[in-house]
Amino acid sequence: MTIEKVKIGGIVYDVIPEERLQADDRTALIGQIDYEAAVIKIDPKLNSQMNIQTLWHEIIHGIFHQNGRGDQTEELIDSTAYSIVQVLRDNHALMDAVKELDEGIEAVK
Ligand SMILES: [Zn+2]
Repeated sequence: MTIEKVKIGGIVYDVIPEERLQADDRTALIGQIDYEAAVIKIDPKLNSQMNIQTLWHEIIHGIFHQNGRGDQTEELIDSTAYSIVQVLRDNHALMDAVKELDEGIEAVK
């Protein structure tokens, strides 16, 4: 399943594949979030597990950015992303329960 959009803090980000991503200092990247353009770019060569982990990494950047946490480290972001992916993979009932929360209020969206 390909994720094409993610809403973070009320902002809908487009999730797009892009090869050869680079940081400002030309360091190679496998994912990148552009807050101003509301775009998350993911290297399409990643396997499905790393695609999701990288997407979560960028989502957490977005959450911290919106919370004014500019002091985030890559280590904190990455370890949190791995942890979230593990919890979601090992607890499918958790995702079902979260989905059920919105089923009753779909009409107000
Ligand atoms: Zn990062």
